[in-house]
Amino acid sequence: MNWLLARRGRNLVSLISICVLLYAAFFTGGDSALQKKRTTTRLLMGTLISITTWGVPEKIEQQGVAEAFAEIARIEDLMSRHKTDSPVAKLNHGAGSGQPQVVPSELITLLTEAQKIQQLSQGAFNPGLGKLIVLWGFSGDENVVKPPKKAEIASWLQSFQSAGGIELSQTDSTISITNPEYGLDLGGIAKGYAIDRAILKLKKSGVVNALVNAGGDLRGIGSKGDASWRVGVQHPRDREKIVVATEWPASPKADMAMVTSGDYERFFIHNQERFHHIINPNSGYPARSGLLSVSVQADSATAADAWSTAFFVLGEDKSRDLLKKLPSVEVLLVRSDGTHWQSDEFRGKWLGKTTN
Ligand code: AMP
Ligand code: MG
Repeated sequence: MNWLLARRGRNLVSLISICVLLYAAFFTGGDSALQKKRTTTRLLMGTLISITTWGVPEKIEQQGVAEAFAEIARIEDLMSRHKTDSPVAKLNHGAGSGQPQVVPSELITLLTEAQKIQQLSQGAFNPGLGKLIVLWGFSGDENVVKPPKKAEIASWLQSFQSAGGIELSQTDSTISITNPEYGLDLGGIAKGYAIDRAILKLKKSGVVNALVNAGGDLRGIGSKGDASWRVGVQHPRDREKIVVATEWPASPKADMAMVTSGDYERFFIHNQERFHHIINPNSGYPARSGLLSVSVQADSATAADAWSTAFFVLGEDKSRDLLKKLPSVEVLLVRSDGTHWQSDEFRGKWLGKTTN
């Protein structure tokens, strides 16, 4: 069994942050070039991203993988809030002016999808929390140790909720931010989108069997020889342990994405209380919905990414209600008491009780 451990986390990223580029290719398997599994890993979007392929002619593989990584780098340049020249950073700089800014049309397309999920989740997913996230200190590399003052959060909330928002124009390819407290932050969806774009590039290059793994957020196509892709999801309180064993459909046409959101990815403990990076837009505080993690399987990593964040905020009951309206979305959630619930079609086996 060859489980790929799905792990995310700041420590890991810090550990490897000295590496500007990590490139590793492993060749395993039998004699034929077609039987070989290859994995290439790079550090992009603040995460180790690996692309594993199986049974693809070497030239096609190299070309596909190079194009997939170039695409992820392009999306990082487009959507990062931290790169001052990125369209997202420029939009945030002009927040409140209401001036329409011309942006690449794909940003509008992605934001339109984000807004659809925002609406369906009744605001649990909100791509405009950038300023609040900065206030919490979950934005950059800073080492936060205590929460902001209650009054600061209340004041931000009041201004955010009372003044406009963001306007998209598909025809002019423009975005205007009318609310000075609105900060575009695509941290809850951009990695999923980058994975989808990478898969598209791989497919276009003729790579039929591939798994793109961005720190535990994944999409796999095809198979791994005679076997299907198998991935383990990490224990929310012990990164060395796997708590769910998932398996992709056993078909050459398999195509499934899985993304996990959890309160262990980025957090600090203050007065014995955990403060993490997934914020409830209604309270301005890290979501306390009774969950430790949510794994979502869907047709696209973009949808899986946004929904895992939304479900984490919504909690179990609201998420299970909403799922009835989302036929192609499957969920496994881990509750604060270490028990779990999974939807009927979620492709995964629970490996044991977690401890809090
Ligand atoms: P994820 O790890 O996919 O759940 O995304 C968490 C990231 O999304 C955070 O680091 C923020 O950048 C952003 N974020 C936090 N809370 C929300 C929210 N309620 N809706 C959308 N994005 C959020
Ligand atoms: Mg997400």
